[in-house]
Amino acid sequence: MAKDNISTRLEQFKEPIQPTIEGQEELACALCYRSFPAKELMVASKERFNFEAAVVVCPDCLEQLQVEMKEKSGGADLVLALIWGVLGLLIVTVPLSLMIWFNYTWPDRELWLWLGCYLAFLPGFVIGRAVYYGSGSKHSLKQQLLAVVLTLVCTQLITYVAKQAAINFEMDIIYKNGHAVELLNPFSYFFNFFLDSILNFKTSQLALAGIVFGLLIGLVVAWLASAGPQLFTRPFVTPISKKNNSGKK
Ligand SMILES: [Zn+2]
Repeated sequence: MAKDNISTRLEQFKEPIQPTIEGQEELACALCYRSFPAKELMVASKERFNFEAAVVVCPDCLEQLQVEMKEKSGGADLVLALIWGVLGLLIVTVPLSLMIWFNYTWPDRELWLWLGCYLAFLPGFVIGRAVYYGSGSKHSLKQQLLAVVLTLVCTQLITYVAKQAAINFEMDIIYKNGHAVELLNPFSYFFNFFLDSILNFKTSQLALAGIVFGLLIGLVVAWLASAGPQLFTRPFVTPISKKNNSGKK
């Protein structure tokens, strides 16, 4: 008897739609149980794109949830986030740079030159997670921007080392008896080499696309990986109103 009771209650919970006047439907908020027109309800979830484990709430309850989430995830420690982010940057930059420096002699030089951009998702993830950890597992736009900037710096450092390796390689050919490493001015490197190379890329369109997309993906990964707990929302659409909408279109 008790089982029946629970299952009927669950069914009621699954389908809280109470069809009223045509075209209008009222639904109960999952938190306060008051009924609202379906279009006023919002779906809230703690996981991006995962609305399976979400709740359907009214505007008041959504506001309440957002306040609670802000209290829980506010107060990110940006100084510690920066320290951890820089550590993450070093962890990725040093081995990748060494790898490029000591391997810059084979035919696929163009690939090694831009490796920092092709593999930008790596620093993006490592720096993003490090910043998130450093922030005290909190959430703020500033920490996300910090992760993005550090990732950009990381890709520039790696490409700078690669360009330096290229110059060194050329010097090796000219001065067979040894030479000092001629350091590239970082600013002229950025404007004369990095930007100029991207704007006037001659090797192949595919390689250029790899560099640009690799870089963008790295920055997006940094943005997502550094984010703390947030509330994701979308408007609530019932099967009935979905039908209506598609009918209109
Ligand atoms: Zn409510």
